[in-house]
Amino acid sequence: GRSVHQIQSGQVIVDLCSVVKELVENSLDAGATAIDVRFKNHGLEAIEVQDNGAGIAPEDYETIALKHYTSKLKTYDDLSTLSTFGFRGEALSSLCALSDFYITTARVVDGPRGAKLEFESSGKLKSTSMTASPKGTTVVVERIFKNLPVRRRELEKNIKREYGKVIGILQAYACISSGVKLSASNQMPKGKKTVVFSTRANPTTKENIINVYGAKAALGLLALDLKLEMQPSGLPLHLSSLPKSDGDNASRQVRIVGHVSRPVVGEGRQAADRQMFFVNSRPCALPQVAKAFNEVYKSYNITQSPFVFADFKIDTNSYDVNVSPDKRTIMLHDQAALLESLKSGL
Ligand code: ADP
Ligand code: MG
Repeated sequence: GRSVHQIQSGQVIVDLCSVVKELVENSLDAGATAIDVRFKNHGLEAIEVQDNGAGIAPEDYETIALKHYTSKLKTYDDLSTLSTFGFRGEALSSLCALSDFYITTARVVDGPRGAKLEFESSGKLKSTSMTASPKGTTVVVERIFKNLPVRRRELEKNIKREYGKVIGILQAYACISSGVKLSASNQMPKGKKTVVFSTRANPTTKENIINVYGAKAALGLLALDLKLEMQPSGLPLHLSSLPKSDGDNASRQVRIVGHVSRPVVGEGRQAADRQMFFVNSRPCALPQVAKAFNEVYKSYNITQSPFVFADFKIDTNSYDVNVSPDKRTIMLHDQAALLESLKSGL
């Protein structure tokens, strides 16, 4: 039978997107300035995420993949000042239950010597072997959902679409992460390796956008900088997985910075699928906000949906913890007011 651990893990890691999101966020949390994401057969065979971050300390090898182990949160109070992506210690433990999973890691102080760590499906450390490893960590996830046959078959069936979604998410991380070189590639069985995109540790998001989407896409972009005043009723945004405010001093101002395509009627084809949304520089899905942008452009007779790179800056004290498994989805309290305010602002 299937263990409780396997079933719960399938609720944290729901698809290819959640695998990649969790691993890239771990690399960013480790202070990496270079992250390389390598897919084999679009991720069906393997997903490897290599970074040049802080590495894993030998004293953590035993615990790293245990459920609820995290090095990022010492006390519950830290939740209110949390600046890392992760804090629940569920990703690695879930991946152990759902794939053939291993890590190689080395710290700078150890020089080129590193360790290969293999785990049992429970997350317990199975073996440690010495290996040559560059500074940083490489996490390898092979045959994701190997023991959840229905989910595995679904993934195989929809792999092109899922892979496209994953690349979209990676592009969002690549664009928002200034000072980080992020690259992605895919290797088909017996085929050659294709580099999907690669940024260059650029200081600005604009340069990242050029690296990811090409100079032409960035040509017609306007800088976006809006300040929206919100009604005092309730929190402007309800954020999943982020610290909860302990007071009722909800922020009443939302600032939106980024880039949008120039609203010119009849201009050549804009990239309809190039819309990225962030809350405090954290990539997330905001479908209603996307709709609002599209509607504004439509109202000016621009039929092609715009390029949007929009980072919502919100006072961190007004966040609310939502223990939803899909940490990408963000719900808006007072959504109608925000959207109205956004539309008139645009
Ligand atoms: P969380 O990110 O919530 O702490 P995870 O299961 O994602 O939980 O990771 C568990 C722990 O493994 C992290 O707290 C961190 O100490 C370590 N870790 C994971 N990935 C990396 C990495 N790429 N570099 C360094 N440490 C890592
Ligand atoms: Mg994590």
